[in-house]
Amino acid sequence: MTEFAGARVLVTGGAGFIGKRLVAALLDEKAEVVVADLRPHPDPAVRSIVGDLCDPAVRDTVVEHGIDGIVHLAAVTSVLRSVEDPVATHELNVEATAGLLELARVREVPRFVLASTNAVTGDVGSATISERLPLRPLTPYGATKAATEMLLSAYSAVYGMKAGALRFANVYGPGMRHKDSFVPRLMRAAAADAGVQVYGDGSQLRDYVHVDDVVQAILLAWRTGLAEPMIVGSGTSVSVNDLIDAARQVTGKPIPVTHVPAKQGEMPAVVLDISAARALGYQPLHDLASGMATVWPDFMASQGEGDAA
Ligand code: NAD
Repeated sequence: MTEFAGARVLVTGGAGFIGKRLVAALLDEKAEVVVADLRPHPDPAVRSIVGDLCDPAVRDTVVEHGIDGIVHLAAVTSVLRSVEDPVATHELNVEATAGLLELARVREVPRFVLASTNAVTGDVGSATISERLPLRPLTPYGATKAATEMLLSAYSAVYGMKAGALRFANVYGPGMRHKDSFVPRLMRAAAADAGVQVYGDGSQLRDYVHVDDVVQAILLAWRTGLAEPMIVGSGTSVSVNDLIDAARQVTGKPIPVTHVPAKQGEMPAVVLDISAARALGYQPLHDLASGMATVWPDFMASQGEGDAA
């Protein structure tokens, strides 16, 4: 038996990429899980409350009395969408989050784990990103996550809630077929015997973290009662060219590359200091080769399943 056995956990966005993997892990630990999402969790055995968290009545329903904590994943997750619609992004990422936090306080829910991002820190050139750097987000997406980190800080300080934010790196792994990030684009290109566009020469460094390592970090944050922001990455940065090579390896496809001019604001490097997470007991289990090997079989198995994959 673990501390999760019988624990009542609300997972917002639990039908999404990270959410589905987290829900599976929580069920393995014998937790009682409720998912709040715009769509039901694909496993009908998982209790889902379907609704828009921007609606106060939906929030009022999902934050049930007696729950042990909330893992808040639901968000506008696309940087591009946040640029196109900063108001809707604020409504969900900040206002709905503030509403959930307040309900958690009033209903004495002791834990709140927020999915944040290293985009809160902004462009630091080639410097290593740690939790100690000032927050200078460059997009509405990063700004809304930074704003909610501030709210969590206040709720931890004033009300003693264990409210911590995990700043995820680029997450990849099984179950991300519906996403538009670079790993699924590589998988789609391989499946279609097509190529991909790469901004610049592909030497820009990124930290790609496997979804199972992200789930490990969420469970750790819950267990330890994390009440501050913490960076969650693989701890090893690789170039976009390295990622393409790893995709070629696992798919056996050539995946030709067309280089296009780098977008304005494209960061030259994302190098993460994960020592705070390691000090708490976090140990990333996947490197790029082992992680990418989990993506292609899942992608092929879920071909044709559409967005519910
Ligand atoms: P996802 O898009 O796969 O899942 C998000 C889920 O939230 C979806 O199931 C969606 O239906 C739900 N949702 C969206 N709007 C909602 C609303 N108004 N009401 C109720 N539910 C709503 O995204 P993901 O990759 O699993 O990301 C989860 C969290 O992690 C997000 O907060 C995201 O910002 C954060 N994050 C993700 C990454 C990454 O690389 N995937 C990196 C950094 C941070």
